[in-house]
Order: sequence, then structure tokens, then C-alpha cells
Amino acid sequence: MTKKIITITGAAGNIAYSLIFRILSGGIFPKNTKIQLKLLDIPESSKILQGVKYEVEDCAFESLDSIITTDNMEIAFGDSDYILLVGAKPRSKGMQRSDLLLDNASIFKNQGQAINQHCKDSTRIIVVGNPANTNALIVSQHTPKIPTHNITSLMRLDQNRAKSIFASKLNVSVPSIRKLVVWGNHSATQFPDISNVQVDDLTNLHDKYDDNWLRKEFIPRVQNRGAEIIDYRGKSSAASAASAVYDHLNSIVNGSDDWESMGVASINPYNISSEIFYSYPLSVTTHSNKIIEGLDISRETLDYLKVTEEELIHERDIIKDLL
Ligand code: NDP
Repeated sequence: MTKKIITITGAAGNIAYSLIFRILSGGIFPKNTKIQLKLLDIPESSKILQGVKYEVEDCAFESLDSIITTDNMEIAFGDSDYILLVGAKPRSKGMQRSDLLLDNASIFKNQGQAINQHCKDSTRIIVVGNPANTNALIVSQHTPKIPTHNITSLMRLDQNRAKSIFASKLNVSVPSIRKLVVWGNHSATQFPDISNVQVDDLTNLHDKYDDNWLRKEFIPRVQNRGAEIIDYRGKSSAASAASAVYDHLNSIVNGSDDWESMGVASINPYNISSEIFYSYPLSVTTHSNKIIEGLDISRETLDYLKVTEEELIHERDIIKDLL
């Protein structure tokens, strides 16, 4: 029997309410792995967190070793193998985007410092709370003992959305689509890129769509899918976000034989600033992730990559005093 410790922050929130149950249902770790869950949230959410704990216990999950709920970062982060930073302050009425960035920056700075103090250096960190890429940059600056490639931010929801919409256009199954990635920020400037896509048993992909559909429908629809869900449901896309966190964690634990999109510390490939976290096409193994370099980038694609880079540089500039 092996034991893994997984910490989830914002554990009383909507994403965690789906995520916890997905993780404990299995599929990521071998069957003989027991999971200790550490659920962190702010004191004001402690009653809800207690209710979540009772529900988790009521599921009688075979995979559950034990569950700790806390508002104390030392308890939450100590010895953790995987830290899922989900909790973040939502934008309230009348709040400026820069205020939201600064408020969340200070939350992630404090969490980074606590992680650095109490975690082992093999801990893997996934940042979900928005603005996820910039929050991941902050965490990385305050966790000097943790290798930067252990820190990634969630772009898998964007990739899943893009694959699903593209599969539906081509009338093929989602798993038959490979090498579809999303570059840049988890925001409306992201760039879903099909220029390297391969589809099982299908050649001449261009017969199935035209460039007008690509530019006018596919790209904006993926970029604005979150808003579309809110428009229909009246609530944010917490369940599909949780499912994407599950997929992201699965890739980190087990590796992936496809290209994956994750926000990672930029190392200046494709001439993108090395001072931001940016989503690239990655090859992901159980130990590490590597940016796929040397791809042919068209002039048009480069324009998209630069727009989303500029937005991330702007976010970085707003929070630079906290780095
Ligand atoms: P959710 O669980 O719905 O979302 C959590 C974070 O994930 C938000 O930043 C949200 O961004 C982000 N996110 C990323 N992708 C998505 C997506 N596709 N759909 C929805 N969200 C996405 O938020 P809740 O408000 O339900 O819960 C947040 C929890 O965090 C609460 O329990 C709260 O107590 C805790 N919290 C902790 C703080 C702290 O100091 N540690 C401060 C504030 C809250 P977006 O807002 O852009 O949707």
C-alpha cells in the first residue's frame, strides 16, 4: 500500500465540490494507493468545509485514507505530494481587474511562502484559481526550493473545449484528435491551435472546414466558452473545470502520449517573454514536462501568440511588486 497526500485549497468552493469526488473515484493512482486529503479554506468557509467532509466520508471511498479540513496553511501543505491551488477571490461588483489581480497575488504569495516552508521539494503544484498563469508565476517566485517545472497552471479546460468543438465539426470522436493545443493565457486572448492536429484515420482535414470557420467561429468560440456557459447556466463552468483539473493531474502523475497544454514558466521559446507563465504545447512524462520547440509558426499564429503574451506581461506588471 502506498499513500499520497493531496491538498486542495478553496475546498469549500464549487470546483472542489466536483473535483474531490472525481479524484477519490479512482483512475489516476494505482488501486493500492490510499489518498490522504487535506482540504484548506478560509475560516468563514469552515462550516461548509465540514459539510463537504461529511459527504466525502458518506461515499465510503475505497481510495480514501483520511481527510483533514483546516484553515491553517502549515497543516494543509505539510508533506503534500500534490497541491491543487483552486481557491481564489472572485471578482465582486464594481471591482477593477487590477484590484482582483493584486488581491489574489497576495493570497498566492502567502501560499507560496507557506509551501516553500512546509513542503518537500518533490511536491507538484497545479494552479487553478484565476488569473491562473499569473498566480502560478507568483507561487514560483516564492517557492525557491521547488523546481519550476513542478509548477503548472490549468489550461486543460481550454484544450478539452477546443478538442470537443473541433471533433464535433469533423464528426469524429474526441480521443481520435491529437496535437491540438492552446497557447497563452487562460482568458479570451488564448489561442487554440489546430495547425499540427492529427486525426486518426483521417487525412485531408481541410476538406472538413474552411479558414472562415476557423477564424470566425472556432477560435472565438473556444476563447469565450466560459462566458457562453455562464450565459446558459447562470453559473460558472465548475464541473468541467474540475474534470479538467482531474485530467491535468492524471497527465502529471501518469504522463501523456499526446501533446498537452499547461501554463509553465516560459524559457523564451518562440520569442515569448521569459518573465511570465505561458501555455505551450508540452510533452509530459511522469517526471517532467518539456516545451515542444521548433514548430513552424505562421505569421498569423505569431500575431495571436503575441496578443496573449502582451496580456500576461500586463498582468505581471500589475503584480510585479509582489514578486
Ligand atoms: P470556484 O471553485 O468556482 O473557482 C475557484 C477558482 O477557480 C476561481 O478563481 C475561478 O476563477 C477559477 N476557475 C478556473 N477555471 C474556471 C472555470 N472554468 N470555471 C470556474 N472557475 C474557474 O469558486 P468558489 O467561489 O465557489 O470557491 C472559491 C473558494 O475559495 C471558496 O471556498 C472561498 O472560501 C475560497 N477563497 C479563499 C481565499 C483565500 O484567501 N485563500 C480567498 C477567497 C476565496 P473565476 O473567479 O475567474 O471564475
